[in-house]
Amino acid sequence: MSRVIPFRRVPVIIEKRALPSGVCAHRRIRLEPHGGVVTCVDCNATLAPFWALSMLSEQYSLAMSQIERLTTRLSLADARVLELSAELDAFARKESPSNPSSTEP
Ligand SMILES: [Zn+2]
Repeated sequence: MSRVIPFRRVPVIIEKRALPSGVCAHRRIRLEPHGGVVTCVDCNATLAPFWALSMLSEQYSLAMSQIERLTTRLSLADARVLELSAELDAFARKESPSNPSSTEP
């Protein structure tokens, strides 16, 4: 009989230190197809492939979070446009002289 021990989730936090100004963050990388060498396009430094993969993963997560936030904002904006359109239509119907309900006797 096996026994399962539950573990609580613990987020992995990678300590990041701010780079001094003027130091390249190596955000644009070049992959050399021969030899598996990774270099920075901006400063031409040779980078550790694992570091490059980690940086790309982090950038991908940031981009996905940004897309999620923008998608949410777009949905809220669409809903607001629909609300305002409905209010405008109701206002136009009330003010229209061709509308029999708004004509005076
Ligand atoms: Zn660089």
